[in-house]
Amino acid sequence: MTRTIEELIPDYLRGLPVYVPGKPIEEVERELKIHAVKLASNENPLGPSPKAIEAARKVLGDANRYPDGGTHALRETLAERRGVTPEEILVGLGSSEIIDLAARVLLRAGLQGLTSEGTYAPFSIVIRASGAELVRVPQRNFAFDLQAMAKAITPKTGVIYLANPNNPTGTAFTGNECREFLDAVPDGVLVVLDEAYIHYATSMGLGDSVEAYRRRKNLLILRTFSKVYGLAGLRIGYAIGRPELVSAMNKLRTPFNTSGVAQAAALAALDDTEHVMRCIETNAVERKRLSEGLAKLGLRPVPSEANFVFMEVGPEAKAISDDLLHLGVIVRPLGWMGSPEAIRITVGTAEENDKCLSAMAQVLPKRAGKGELAAR
Ligand code: PLP
Repeated sequence: MTRTIEELIPDYLRGLPVYVPGKPIEEVERELKIHAVKLASNENPLGPSPKAIEAARKVLGDANRYPDGGTHALRETLAERRGVTPEEILVGLGSSEIIDLAARVLLRAGLQGLTSEGTYAPFSIVIRASGAELVRVPQRNFAFDLQAMAKAITPKTGVIYLANPNNPTGTAFTGNECREFLDAVPDGVLVVLDEAYIHYATSMGLGDSVEAYRRRKNLLILRTFSKVYGLAGLRIGYAIGRPELVSAMNKLRTPFNTSGVAQAAALAALDDTEHVMRCIETNAVERKRLSEGLAKLGLRPVPSEANFVFMEVGPEAKAISDDLLHLGVIVRPLGWMGSPEAIRITVGTAEENDKCLSAMAQVLPKRAGKGELAAR
């Protein structure tokens, strides 16, 4: 047989873009020999809850044993807190795994996966990786255009991906807008509602997605422990959805997808409401300060409901990010996400944000006239 292994890789996988993560601090510090702050991956700058760290430490000694593959304790606690049954909860290796599982279970060649332009890149990647056709609707004012998305549904649509608040633009839709959209979606289409940043939203009226799920069971709600709970490195997230779908996704996931350390830390993090509140409040104060500081420099950050701010800075976006990097501030240029003129900056601690603002003040006069940016 003359076939090569490479020929076995289907065409729809060959053309897929690679997910580009934010640059690790260690790499930047090693390469540039400077002290850096990382404001590129929407991580929690205050770290995990001390209670989560303690709980993780306690179970490290059991690392010779496989973890509870059914994540019973965590699913039961989550079910009780969210008012659903444990059979409606799926725990994943970060919510990333569940984003992928939804596409793997429900999509295939001949079907369509629908999402928006200017949203979380893995949505498009998992749709394409399933062999289905990717359909993306343009945004309106840096936000999901839910009416246009409803119109884009066809008999071939299998899954729709939404993020609320959206990454990378930080905009959010209201509970009413969500309800109207769900009412326009046929029963046989799954809506994945990714709420990775929901804790950070401070405007009113975002609604209760579990309430929406009770009305329309074709909803899969995603939450993560990577953001407000500060456990991105432990890789754990969960979904709420109809038991039949959860059961199908359970068949495809790896048997021990989350470690015992991650499960213990997540359980303890859920209980540390004081830490969660502190993270939310600090983010709200610092998000405002960072946004106002950037605006004073002539930039136009999009009002954000998340722990990052998005702004269009012009064709020099990548050059501005590189200049900031050389000053020890790692931000995210968004060319690879389809916004070549935009950057996204994660809200850090007060000190990190100060460093970012002063680096930006040095970089901008060099890269683009203040007036030009302000006029955008
Ligand atoms: N969903 C969105 C919208 C995100 O921005 C991210 C990470 O940045 C994730 C999901 C992935 O989260 P996790 O760490 O739970 O895989």
